[in-house]
Amino acid sequence: MKSDLIQKYDLRVPRYTSYPTSPQFNEQVDGAVYKRWLGELDPKTELSLYFHIPFCDEMCSFCGCYTKIVKRYEPVSEYMTALLTEIDLVADALAQNNNKRMTAKHLHWGGGSPTMLKGDDWMSIMEKLRSRFDVTSDAEIAVELDPRTASEEYIAQLEKAGVNRASIGVQSYRAIVQEAINRIQPYEMTKQVIEWLRAHSISHINMDLMYGLPHQTVDEMEDMIDKTVELQPNRIALFGYAHVPWMKSHQKLIHEEDLPGTQERWDQFTTASERLVERGYVKVGFDHFAHPDDNMAAASQDNVLHRNFQGYTTDTAPAMLAFGASAIGYLPQGYVQNQLPLKAYRQAIFSGVLPTAKGIAINDDDRTRREVIERIMCDLEVDLAAVAKEFGTDKAVLANDIEKLKPLIADGICAIDGDKLTVLEDGRPFIRLVASAFDAYLKNSEGRHSKAV
Ligand code: SF4
Repeated sequence: MKSDLIQKYDLRVPRYTSYPTSPQFNEQVDGAVYKRWLGELDPKTELSLYFHIPFCDEMCSFCGCYTKIVKRYEPVSEYMTALLTEIDLVADALAQNNNKRMTAKHLHWGGGSPTMLKGDDWMSIMEKLRSRFDVTSDAEIAVELDPRTASEEYIAQLEKAGVNRASIGVQSYRAIVQEAINRIQPYEMTKQVIEWLRAHSISHINMDLMYGLPHQTVDEMEDMIDKTVELQPNRIALFGYAHVPWMKSHQKLIHEEDLPGTQERWDQFTTASERLVERGYVKVGFDHFAHPDDNMAAASQDNVLHRNFQGYTTDTAPAMLAFGASAIGYLPQGYVQNQLPLKAYRQAIFSGVLPTAKGIAINDDDRTRREVIERIMCDLEVDLAAVAKEFGTDKAVLANDIEKLKPLIADGICAIDGDKLTVLEDGRPFIRLVASAFDAYLKNSEGRHSKAV
């Protein structure tokens, strides 16, 4: 790819983990609306459940998540009580019309650091969930795990709680980078934790790697990929560091002069990406890679991959109920996000109301565009007429958006043949830009997203 294109398309666009994206959420969707939506859900709707644990014991300076640093367990313990109460509030809202009890097939704990929870708390939350939902025996139970705090004993407790997938963040194996981002996590530590996980039947391992961090280089990417592949994770994500110190003040600890420039970031990404493919991993979307035996590789090949707030997923559930401060969920009617300051979240729960802060109800135009965007992001191609027909929309409403693609078509990023839009292989890293042509809200949220490359 020519360097002038990398500079030309060095724009900020959403990651499209939802559509409409979160800057469009509004306060008209509150706890009462969410309660009504939950009551309207068809009892046969399969659910995913997401739990946000917004605590860590130390701040990594690159962090882009909503988390709070705590040195004592009391705040986590209080939060657990709120979370258990929220599970009851949501389950009661589901049951309000026909006493329905629903099935959950995917459970995911993110943060923050979910592994801040003590082993006993894992047991109580799983017990509560099983008492209010039918958690299937083959449910995927996934946890984002911080290797710096995980012991073998702790991992054995996760196994007992039913956890069967772990995601591990690895930003770099080099000390100079780890020091610059305030996260010391040597390779041997990561390796040991993965061995413990496998020994305790938590055999699905995701690794989240990063590029674009201070002092990272192209050479390091080669080394990082080789070391990672030795650990044989089932899935690998390759995320670019998003430097937004005006939104995340702790990122001011990262010196801008130590950060790679746009061309260097591009070279790091392409080097890592090509190396992963050479080592046998299958490209999934624009930033994920799957072992050929993993079901994500098959889902990608069969065009049945999905995208949600955790990134690319094989989860097909039409509803994800999200628990915890700031957590975002979705239902067929729209998106909901919980209160963000912990105090407001707890106050709502302990007054017996759902802690919804905002959200958005979606209409048929949103559904059509969401499907177009999701197919582009997941399959790198979409039949625009077929999607419009599926959602009862006149395909002419997409005509203006196709016009917007002309410069990208001229630059060899995508191609259009009749109604079929395809992202070309060279254009894969620019996939978010192609998708953004169909985002009817984008002009309202520019500047609030990370760089496209
Ligand atoms: S452990 Fe994860 S969530 Fe916590 S500060 Fe570090 S990057 Fe952020």
